[in-house]
Formats: sequence, C-alpha cells, structure tokens
Amino acid sequence: MTFKNLHILEHPLIQQKLFYLRDKRTNNLNFRTMLNEISGLMVYEVTRNFPVRPREVETPLEKTTGYVLAKSVILVPILRAGLAMSDGILRLIPHAKVGHLGLYRDKETLKPVEYYRKFPPDIADSEIMVIDPMLATGGSAVAAIDFVKKAGGKSIKFICLVAAPEGVQMLEEHHPDVPIFTAALDRELNDHKYILPGLGDAGDRIYGTE
Ligand code: URA
Repeated sequence: MTFKNLHILEHPLIQQKLFYLRDKRTNNLNFRTMLNEISGLMVYEVTRNFPVRPREVETPLEKTTGYVLAKSVILVPILRAGLAMSDGILRLIPHAKVGHLGLYRDKETLKPVEYYRKFPPDIADSEIMVIDPMLATGGSAVAAIDFVKKAGGKSIKFICLVAAPEGVQMLEEHHPDVPIFTAALDRELNDHKYILPGLGDAGDRIYGTE
C-alpha cells in the first residue's frame, strides 16, 4: 500500500528506539525516556526543509552571515500521549510554542471529543507540528488539524510514532495538504481500534495508568 503524504523515517537509531518502545517489558520510565529521544530524532528529519533566513553574526574574529529559522514553530500535542513527544521535540527547538489540544475518544461512538484547546496567537504564520504517538483510526488527527486550520494554521505537519493504514488513509482524504511523518506503518487495527502489532496504549505506557 502506498500513500502519497506518508514519510516513514527509517534512520537506524529511530528504528532501534521503536523496537524497545514496542517491547512489552519496557517499563514506564524507560518508555518515557525513549519516547523523548525518538521524538528528537524524528523532528530532526521532519524539520529538514523548514525555511531559513540569513542573519548577520559577529564571531570573535569577524562578521559573517548565518541562518536561523524563518518562521516561528508551534507544536500541537494531542493530549495526553502527544505531550510526552513534545518534551523531546522542545529539547531540540526550545523556542517553539506549544498549543495544547485535549481530545478523548468516546467509548461508544469511538469519535473524538474536545475537552481543552489553547493555541498561541501567531498560529497563522508559524510552522505547525501536530503530534500524537499513535495514528489509529485517524479521527483525532483529522479533528485536531480541523481545529488548527480553523484557528488560521496553514503550514502543518503531522508526526506520529506508529501509523495504521486506516488512519493514514483517513488523514490523507481529509487533509491532503498535510504531510505525515511516522517511524512505522503497521498492519491494521483490531476490533478495539488498537494498532497491530503497535505498542499498546501509548498514554498508559507513558504515564503508568494501565
Ligand atoms: N491509541 C493507542 O495508544 N494505541 C493504539 O494502538 C491506538 C490508539
């Protein structure tokens, strides 16, 4: 199956960290640590083509021109699991702003329900990364990007750790302008909409709530 917006990050260090994140024996502390690390490695690849602008700088010897990011960066983690990924990304882009979006999946309809939203004001002019470790049905990702676009967001990327084909398809259908970055495209969803083989419930594994 090929998806035109999907970028699978195959760097060996990313793949090795994903291996340990999948392992059911990885405890909460190691899971969180590894998720932070892999998120930093992933964002290094995701930001590869971010626009830069020249800026003059004075070294101890003379003036020269360097480059800085041309636009401000906004992370939009989908609560709660997305938060743990944004910590790792903030280590690499400490000046990034964070727009929080709380969505939960209704147990009966399985549809996303919003419970919290606060975005930075300059969202229209920023590079935006919407973050959620698991792209399962695609419902939350589509809803999150709907909110970001309604707030004025234009340059948007979606970052997840593991994607299911169903989620990628749904996201491509609703938001064909949004590139999707993942460490793995897994096989399918089970009857409870968990990704197979996946890594289980990301939020529970991060926060020890299983
Ligand atoms: N959310 C998770 O945390 N895991 C899945 O497999 C699917 C959705």
